Amino acid sequence: MTLTESLLDTKAPKDIIDNLTLLDVEYVDFSGASQIGQLLIATDLADEVRLIFVALKRSGFPIEKIIPIVSYDWDDQRSIADNNSSAFNYRLIAGTDKLSNHAYGRAIDINPFQNPYIDRDRKIQPEGAQYDPKIVGTITADGTVVKIFKKYGWEWGGDWGESRGYWDYHHFQKK
Ligand SMILES: [Zn+2]
Repeated sequence: MTLTESLLDTKAPKDIIDNLTLLDVEYVDFSGASQIGQLLIATDLADEVRLIFVALKRSGFPIEKIIPIVSYDWDDQRSIADNNSSAFNYRLIAGTDKLSNHAYGRAIDINPFQNPYIDRDRKIQPEGAQYDPKIVGTITADGTVVKIFKKYGWEWGGDWGESRGYWDYHHFQKK
């Protein structure tokens, strides 16, 4: 899709929209085939996100799909339930009135089904998911995906358990 299509009906203000780039990224899917997805990302992060996805592809880490969230009517829950990986979405941090880093295109979620969100009460989202490092496509603390993102100074939500009491295993961000 085009940049305009990827932003259709977004509620984001102009200054945020003007700072977004629609990036084509190559990845390997779960059958090992090369695919091209699209990420809406903050323009100042586009170059390094391109490099991050080149490294992810080279590592062989499989990703199910990378589709701009406009295709899910900006509904994060629907995107996550479909195991979609994405970046920009003008939305609040769940359960707060603060804008998420996704609202600025400064966060990327990867394979949310293999890498769910686990809240303080140990409730898991999306429904039916589990976090099992043995399953292909799962992001682990000592694995390649975390290593690649951290090389570029990105933070991983899977590290938040001790400090925040919840785990956002699919989430990477750079402020
Ligand atoms: Zn996220």
